[in-house]
Amino acid sequence: MSFVYFFGSGYADGNASMKSELGGKGANLAEMTALGLPVPAGFTISTRVCLDYIKEGSSFSKELILQVESALKKTEEAMGAKFADSLNPLLVSVRSGARVSMPGMMDTVLNLGLNEITVEALSKKTENPRFAYDSYRRFIQMYSSVVKDLETHYMEDELESYKKQCGYKEDTELTASDLKELIVLFKSIYQKHIMESFPEDPYEQLWNAIGAVFKSWNCPRAKKYREIHSISNDWGTAVNICSMVYGNMGETSGTGVCFTRDPSTGENIFYGEFLINAQGEDVVAGLRTPKSLYLLEKEMPEVFVQLESVRSKLERHYQDVQDIEFTIQESKLYILQTRNAKRTTQAALKIAIDFTKEGLLTKEEAILRVNAQDLDKLLHPTLDPRAHKQIIAKGLPASPGAVSGRVVFTALEAESWAARGELVILVRDETSPEDIGGMYSSQGFLTARGGMTSHAAVVARQMGKCCIAGCSSLNISQTLKSMKVAGIEILEGDWLTLDGTTGEVMIGKVETKNAELSGDFTTFMEWAREIRTMKVRANADTPRDAQYARSFGAEGIGLCRTEHMFFEENRLPVVRQMILSKNNIERKLALDKLLPFQRDDFVGILSAMEGFEVTIRLLDPPLHEFLPHTDKDMMILAAQLGLSLDDLGQRVRSLHEANPMLGHRGCRLGISHPEIYEMQVRAILEATEICKAQGKKVYPEIMIPLVGIESELKWLRERLVKIAPHFPFGTMIEVPRAALTADKISRHADFFSFGTNDLTQTTYGFSRDDSAPFLRVYKQESILEEDPFAVIDQDGVGRLIKYACELGRQENPNIKLGICGEHGGEPSSVQFCNSLGLNYVSCSPFRIPIAMLAAAQAAV
Ligand code: ADP
Ligand code: MG
Ligand code: MG
Repeated sequence: MSFVYFFGSGYADGNASMKSELGGKGANLAEMTALGLPVPAGFTISTRVCLDYIKEGSSFSKELILQVESALKKTEEAMGAKFADSLNPLLVSVRSGARVSMPGMMDTVLNLGLNEITVEALSKKTENPRFAYDSYRRFIQMYSSVVKDLETHYMEDELESYKKQCGYKEDTELTASDLKELIVLFKSIYQKHIMESFPEDPYEQLWNAIGAVFKSWNCPRAKKYREIHSISNDWGTAVNICSMVYGNMGETSGTGVCFTRDPSTGENIFYGEFLINAQGEDVVAGLRTPKSLYLLEKEMPEVFVQLESVRSKLERHYQDVQDIEFTIQESKLYILQTRNAKRTTQAALKIAIDFTKEGLLTKEEAILRVNAQDLDKLLHPTLDPRAHKQIIAKGLPASPGAVSGRVVFTALEAESWAARGELVILVRDETSPEDIGGMYSSQGFLTARGGMTSHAAVVARQMGKCCIAGCSSLNISQTLKSMKVAGIEILEGDWLTLDGTTGEVMIGKVETKNAELSGDFTTFMEWAREIRTMKVRANADTPRDAQYARSFGAEGIGLCRTEHMFFEENRLPVVRQMILSKNNIERKLALDKLLPFQRDDFVGILSAMEGFEVTIRLLDPPLHEFLPHTDKDMMILAAQLGLSLDDLGQRVRSLHEANPMLGHRGCRLGISHPEIYEMQVRAILEATEICKAQGKKVYPEIMIPLVGIESELKWLRERLVKIAPHFPFGTMIEVPRAALTADKISRHADFFSFGTNDLTQTTYGFSRDDSAPFLRVYKQESILEEDPFAVIDQDGVGRLIKYACELGRQENPNIKLGICGEHGGEPSSVQFCNSLGLNYVSCSPFRIPIAMLAAAQAAV
């Protein structure tokens, strides 16, 4: 069995399709090697070995050791150097790489293979002692922290104080003999804390590093990241052993990161950053501020031309925007990594559209390139241009969106403030992977250091949060919990506003306004609509919501809840009068007063949805929801109704229910008080006639909630049809009995609408209002993977829906089927609905683009 996959000299054992064995990094290193790109030779140990290593209690098999030795030999041949050799030593990097990229989650060790002897050899061979000792001190630092878990500050502090003593600002000012001294100091720090001497044997270094990468799969940071991004714990990470190339050899060397297009806007420009005389993480670590890529064109034109050709080669090959790591060693270019670039949703749209226009993708492929859920982020607010703003600083516009929040200076603080319901902005010199939890809890990030590819920037784009990076005028003191900027002192808890689109930092809370959708968005949604087969309707109760929904492309209303109309201020007293009336005559009187209100509402909403169907649901909630809850309200109502407080109290109490969700509501109410539904249907009829008289084409559908028994629907329909003949009547399927007897129910229904909120509640027997605390535990304990109120439970609730569809269609082939729960706007649930052949999904207006795209993706 193969555990180890070699790549080098234009040949590779693996390829890009082998991400599950080789991890993303390893698979792409193999692919790039085979493409003929300048990748330093090396090999990848498969993810399978990681899982075995963890299971077997940290040991390596004989077979693995043999395979590694043979791959190392091939690598030595390809590079013309020998690992652990005392004259011409090969150095390697040991890099983690899981199936999907987890930026910064697991650590890399560079320059491995150095010891007292090989460092001298390297120095002689390159005639560059400074470089050799710089590499060695970096190796000691990385090895100590990654392999031995030594806290990084011991050596960093040593380095800083050494530089201070010498009056240096930058690491690059350290001379060879400085570095030699530092190496001695570092080794004694190592000895002191690890209680052993720094390993001289390169093979010992190698195997320890490999083991450390495997172990890092289960470090808390990696686990947290996987938890947030729903990544399986059973994938493991691969290890890549890669021949070192050196960006720290002097002024003709360097290292950088580039994107084949701008990952923030999607613009077709070559975009990136680099540092001269630097190695590895220097660019992303934010210690020195990197230079923009266009300067490389001036400083090293030949290298730039090569890099440009790699850019177009990789983009065409992968048919996607790439994020590329490169190193220049004495004017020679090497490529160390490529992956599909993380991008803002805005950029994802533009890229998908541009690639289609450039003939690289079909519309169907383009549709699949944007995560439906992410469209949410486009609807992010921007600053209100008319709002007054006091700009106190400007940094790099690293991730778009405008947010306000209260300043906190640590990730932990961010988490605890957010847990109290505060909106926070995390302000740091720079962020690091340990901050992930706090970053998740923040509205946005503001950093003093780091560039557009810094940790904060990358994470922000991925999370769809606002970020301003490299805002160097901030003077932050974490210990004092304050910062000074532009002569102003800002303390923890003060309000700031960030505009991630311009990089402007403002004091206080500046008004924001909702996003206006770009031309790209419109084009993309048009394509989605062409491709999708299932329709998307909106859940909307008011003409305003209906208009909003139409502007997002809604094709009708799937759920118009009439009870919301009962809650309006001028109507509530009449509604209460209706509910508390002593007899039918009194109740009729009250209903007669309500009818014109309802009629006008319906005229508004039908007009707003002209040309489309509007499903109007008759009154659903238990009546006591409309009753007063405070003493003051009781007193006012008693006066309005001319009742004594005692009398009123008694009537209110008589409506009390122990279990209102399963109580006197929905069609049960319609049957015990038919005059309520009769009034509503009359209002629908009159509204329709008014609209028609105005020449409008309107299509109301009348929906009866909570039916579980065929005769409930039959009873109500027979009665209501007399008032409004020729109107479509249908019912919600939201209790299990309705689904199980859907054939019978369908005899009296022109349509079913699956009310999946209630159907989930009644199928599980989970109260919607009380389930949050135990569902949280269920998710933690993996008893449930998802909250069934957010994502349709396909095994249980979904099976009922499927069965009801089949029964309903058998008995009534013309029946129209739709869904109107919260699930109608959740991508995986939309996909499920599409697979059942539903006619439409209906969701809140804000989620229509998501549902539309998910429907299109399901249809491809
Ligand atoms: P990450 O997954 O965090 O990006 P990487 O393994 O890609 O970690 O490496 C960290 C840094 O070290 C990157 O800047 C990378 O380009 C650099 N690097 C890795 N291997 C080598 C190598 N063999 N030679 C030179 N630089 C390397
Ligand atoms: Mg990398
Ligand atoms: Mg319901």
